[in-house]
Amino acid sequence: MMAGVDTATLSDWIHRFRDAVVENKDRLTELDSAIGDADHGSNMARGMDAVVAKLDAGVPATVDELLKSVGMTLVSSVGGASGPLYGTFFLRMGMDAGAVASLDDAALAKALRAGLDGIVARGKAEAGDKTMFDAMSPAVDALDVGVARGADLAAATAAAATAAAAGRDATVPLVARKGRASYLGERSAGHLDPGAASTALLFDALAAAVADAT
Ligand code: ADP
Ligand code: MG
Repeated sequence: MMAGVDTATLSDWIHRFRDAVVENKDRLTELDSAIGDADHGSNMARGMDAVVAKLDAGVPATVDELLKSVGMTLVSSVGGASGPLYGTFFLRMGMDAGAVASLDDAALAKALRAGLDGIVARGKAEAGDKTMFDAMSPAVDALDVGVARGADLAAATAAAATAAAAGRDATVPLVARKGRASYLGERSAGHLDPGAASTALLFDALAAAVADAT
């Protein structure tokens, strides 16, 4: 396709995210063992395995049905904070996208922004709180900038992935102000946030799916 993403590309994105989460399961759990309860890798792997199992039973025909299925499965299959947060991200993204077969570049950026806003509505995280927000917010900003400039979507999503990785790495010195890590206070500094790490995987997966489709 010339631009944007269709349901096949979105499904590929979700599959690639599942694969990345499973591949990095031990790493994500190790990060969570330093400042949380050592379950982020298993939470995300369990959730994304359930998501992919449901999608493989039949990919929905519209973008909103696909994304709402992903979100609902995450909310219902992940016990930790990350399940409802990622679940809300996909649900809100789907609601914004609507019953369409594909999204153009601007609609994709807008839907991702709606997903991010959903995470904020649910978890109240702000910049610098040492959460997944700190990787996702710069990624969504970078995608907006790329799309506004008229960059092709492969380049814009690659820039978003780079921004997510930078945001992830920038969580290391931060003191956590949200979630379980906040219970540690100052002792949470010096560690990378596990949710920011999984969010970087989410945007890597998006860039790879888009690059592969174009
Ligand atoms: P739990 O903390 O319940 O064990 P996980 O370990 O799966 O859940 O996920 C932890 C991650 O969730 C954190 O690393 C952080 O990025 C993210 N997180 C926690 N609380 C919030 C929040 N209020 N807003 C945004 N992200 C959050
Ligand atoms: Mg945890």
